Amino acid sequence: MDLYEYQGKELLGRYGVPVSAGRLASTPDEARRAAEELGGPVVVKAQVLTGGRGKAGGVKLAGSPGEAAARAEEILGLEIRGHVVRRLWIESAAEIEREYYLAVTLDRGAQRALLMFTTRGGVEIEQVVAESPEALVRVHVDPLEGFEPHHARELLAGVGDERERLQLEAIATGLYRCFVESDATLCEINPLIVTPEAQVRALDAKVTIDDSALFRHSDLAALDDPSAADPLEVRARERGVIYVKLDGSVGIVGNGAGLSMATVDVVVVAGGRPANFCDLGGGGSAAGVVAALEVISSDRQVRSILFNIFGGITRCDEVARGILTALDEISLAVPIVVRLDGTNAEEGRRILAAGGRADLHVEPTMLAAAERAVELAA
Ligand code: GDP
Ligand code: MN
Repeated sequence: MDLYEYQGKELLGRYGVPVSAGRLASTPDEARRAAEELGGPVVVKAQVLTGGRGKAGGVKLAGSPGEAAARAEEILGLEIRGHVVRRLWIESAAEIEREYYLAVTLDRGAQRALLMFTTRGGVEIEQVVAESPEALVRVHVDPLEGFEPHHARELLAGVGDERERLQLEAIATGLYRCFVESDATLCEINPLIVTPEAQVRALDAKVTIDDSALFRHSDLAALDDPSAADPLEVRARERGVIYVKLDGSVGIVGNGAGLSMATVDVVVVAGGRPANFCDLGGGGSAAGVVAALEVISSDRQVRSILFNIFGGITRCDEVARGILTALDEISLAVPIVVRLDGTNAEEGRRILAAGGRADLHVEPTMLAAAERAVELAA
């Protein structure tokens, strides 16, 4: 789960990372009031779960409350990389002397946290890595050792004077603690600025929390904003199916992550492109099948549906009944190809055949089913 900038800053603030004072606003009038309360020049910042807001016109300086309202008017409703701006963060503007970049992320390969720092902040980090990879300092931290002063020395070697380095060390230490204690997979500050008064401060925050750990962070879980997510993914989650959007034309339903992913591959082998995939999980009850078919068929890119079930604990006869029930309940505009194997597969196929539906095709193998679905989607 990604946090909005203002939520990320609030979290970093708890770990001693200096951030500017700010207020939320969702109308130009609220932006004006926020600027009045803060006093002095402010920055009006689009709150969307994507980067590159500055370049897209989603971050603007305002010298007065009136200007803040005008900038808010311009930014609200703006679409940035597919995200419509509905909320703004108004914060006291900072003067920038230098812009750095500091992040902690999870290096799965190394099985360690990875701290990254560069004095070339403010621009996208991918650009820094492409242009001058040596400018990005990378330091791994052993989780059993934790973040120690020697890590900070390595990360910040040669940067700034002592006063600045002390602040940077404290911020890096806080960021690492935030990363570990929040079960984050990313805590990124870009830019981390130095003001003309030599104060170091986070002007942006990007925090991603591991979804699997949200159960032990009820305060963070409560920050989830369903309106920012793909509406179909939200509907799928509410109904207990896992739905992943892809960009082809064959909708896929499987039971279990492994089989669903393999089905995606087989569709590609058969010359097609998956539109999405839905994982029914281990169950495959009639209700689950109805939910999955409903979700998948609401995706307008779907031209055919491939249903691939391997019955282990799941019984194929139950899945077959689920499919027929679903087809009675919802009117599918696209053909569906079914491959059933495993427990009670023969009975399942018999049930499907007895259903007598012209838009339902049963195939004996995974490959044959994929080929048929690809053909029907063409
Ligand atoms: P992003 O483009 O989505 O990463 O949004 P940022 O929060 O990083 O803002 C983009 C840029 O706006 C920053 O790199 C800064 O150069 C600039 N900016 C943000 N806040 C301030 C501020 O308080 N004062 C000044 N002068 N510039 C700011
Ligand atoms: Mn940024």
